[in-house]
Amino acid sequence: MRPGSLLQPAEPIFGYFANLPERSVITQCASRKHRWYSFTSAFEQFSRGKDITRRRRFDVALTLEDIRNYVAGEWRNSRAADYQGVTNPATGELLGRVPLSPAAEVDAAVGAAAKAFPAWRQVPAGERTNFLFQLRELLKRHFEELSRTITIECGKTLGESRGEMLRAIENVEVACGTPALMQGYNSEDIASGIDESMVRQPLGVCAIISPFNFPAMIPFWFFPYAIACGNTVVLKPSERVPLTMQKVFRLIETIGLPPGVVNLVNGGRECVNAILDHPEIRAVSFVGSSATARHVYSRAAAAGKRVQCQGGAKNPVVILPDADLATTVDIVADSAFGCAGQRCLAASVAITVGEAAKPFTEAIREKAASRITGCGLDEGVQMGPVITPESRERIEGLIGKALGDGAKLVVDGRKAKIPNYEKGSFVRPTILEDLPFSSEVARTEIFGPVLSVHHMNSIDEAISFVNSGEYGNMACLFTTSGSDARKFRYRAEVGNVGINVGVAAPMAYFPFSGARGSFFGDLHGQGRDAVEFFTQQKVVIERWPKTWSRKF
Ligand code: NAD
Repeated sequence: MRPGSLLQPAEPIFGYFANLPERSVITQCASRKHRWYSFTSAFEQFSRGKDITRRRRFDVALTLEDIRNYVAGEWRNSRAADYQGVTNPATGELLGRVPLSPAAEVDAAVGAAAKAFPAWRQVPAGERTNFLFQLRELLKRHFEELSRTITIECGKTLGESRGEMLRAIENVEVACGTPALMQGYNSEDIASGIDESMVRQPLGVCAIISPFNFPAMIPFWFFPYAIACGNTVVLKPSERVPLTMQKVFRLIETIGLPPGVVNLVNGGRECVNAILDHPEIRAVSFVGSSATARHVYSRAAAAGKRVQCQGGAKNPVVILPDADLATTVDIVADSAFGCAGQRCLAASVAITVGEAAKPFTEAIREKAASRITGCGLDEGVQMGPVITPESRERIEGLIGKALGDGAKLVVDGRKAKIPNYEKGSFVRPTILEDLPFSSEVARTEIFGPVLSVHHMNSIDEAISFVNSGEYGNMACLFTTSGSDARKFRYRAEVGNVGINVGVAAPMAYFPFSGARGSFFGDLHGQGRDAVEFFTQQKVVIERWPKTWSRKF
């Protein structure tokens, strides 16, 4: 291909650019880097115009960028042999391509982090957190731009992206208090003239691996605390949504952190496995599906690392007959269909108890059927697309399988067509009723806007159900009875409980909990737990006797 030639989507080397408009112009193609810039100009050219559709494309063009790694305080082009396309799930348009960085690039990032560690751990804790105060200001200043980027690459509505950014910022704010959270304790005269104290020290190089559904928030559950405690970090975002962290690291670049304190490596499995096996990485924080979480936990732990892995979910919400129906239905609909159900705290199973069955099912049917689905940037849209066409196919396949296994279809969200967004990956809200518990779908995390409604006779039966599945991320109860609420929160074997709350997402100063197949490890992300995870306790016993004595 020559500069100025037309893009041929069928050309094998550009297979992942198949969604580009046919008449995009290649302006440079001398090297991998230049070829990449050529697509930027192709998009900019394509995006000039004033009508709504074209303005939307301009949004895309604004985020189209060269996805690079950030190592030792500088941006580096990856030498990856493989790249993956990043697309806007609402439009199907190409946003960029992400390098699947090889193990050698992980090694370089770990090397930079290891080199930075000895000096960084000696920076007084108050000075370390000064960098976070600066970062907070920048995140606030760039709040809208970052929120739009999340929507463009991940699909959720702008309101949901803003909510995500608020929680990311909140984590920075809580991490600014790390000097106090890191304090140890001491006792004088544990024996005559002998004192004992516990101090917390940083671990060294820590790695963070994040999923696609919260491109901003989830890295912030970990890295502000890690660096505030004196560690250095290698972060690997999801290869499906790498743009948000590119922008965040552009801000980090300006706050003057010493080179190597935070490093960004883009990639997929090879990167993750290189992290898990790397001898200089002391701790791994992972969030993603349970299958990957299990793999990460066992491989990293076998290599002697400290590990915390948040996994998948299948969250039940229980509706008692005395619940306030109108409020409950609003809350459950937001929980099940918010973020298109791609949330580890999404309600995916609704259990009605006794007389709640009929009124709840009728009301939630209305809510689901009337939810406005579309591009997350558009005014009034209540639910965006799912992340990829493959994800839509998988979700629709699971709905079909559930029907084959005997479920009733209350609302069918398959084959959604959104005007002006024909290439988007949309599934509308879907409600299944009476899916047999023996069906595999009843135990599978669908991770889409699908709510399965079941009817039971008592709260005890519902609690037994809550405690029976593989996952234990969240369970919620809707009731006006204090004693039922207490029974539920006391007995539910899950990490996060909601009482008349549909998304029990802990504030940044609480641990983001999880139990059973939804969490592997002991200390969680956020707040005090994160500070404990990112520090090693050291106990010191000191004797300063005037005279030696064996008397205790
Ligand atoms: P995922 O497991 O596919 O990917 C997560 C990370 O692991 C990515 O960075 C990816 O590159 C890497 N990865 C994927 N497959 C791998 C493999 N075979 N070997 C090594 N690394 C691999 O998860 P996802 O689809 O990006 O995210 C959705 C999942 O995350 C859902 O299951 C959701 O419930 C879960 N999640 C959980 C929480 C929580 O707090 N419990 C929060 C958000 C998301």
